[in-house]
Amino acid sequence: MKFCSQCGSDKLRFDIPEGDNRPRYWCPDCGTIHYQNPKIVVGTVPVWEGRILLCKRSIQPRSGYWTLPAGYMENGETLQEGAARETWEEACATVNIKDVYTIFNLPHIYQVYIFFLGDIVDGQYGVGEESSDAGLFLPEEIPWDELAFPTINRTLKYFLQDMKTGDYPLRVQDIAPLGFKP
Ligand code: ZN
Repeated sequence: MKFCSQCGSDKLRFDIPEGDNRPRYWCPDCGTIHYQNPKIVVGTVPVWEGRILLCKRSIQPRSGYWTLPAGYMENGETLQEGAARETWEEACATVNIKDVYTIFNLPHIYQVYIFFLGDIVDGQYGVGEESSDAGLFLPEEIPWDELAFPTINRTLKYFLQDMKTGDYPLRVQDIAPLGFKP
């Protein structure tokens, strides 16, 4: 941050404000403390007749790699609404959102990922604005070497395990570089 978004001052400081316990950007001119908090990425595991819908990213980061539909939650929506919206935007699919399935803490990049299970309503899908391709994959067709993010890899790995039993328990995990300390 260079400027105070409240008053436009260019004298922003980054240190521990009085009464706080960690460094923040704050403005000595108007007193505003600019809190920064993790972003929530929300997505789905969209399924149609035993196949999983993946889309190929056409935007950075990881353009050209396959992903489950997911993206930043917007203000004013619920987790489920965000997951359904991202699935529509990236893969033109309408999903019945079911249980929350995986949650990943990524403290080193200030993100939390949340994936929901979801059935594709009518089997329809397409290539959304931020995608260059989309397709339904059988378990043995998953392009493991071309997946965009570790969160996708892990969610798909669990999903394939759970397809065998039909039981899909919630997983909550941390993904951070070795030795990372928040
Ligand atoms: Zn200010």
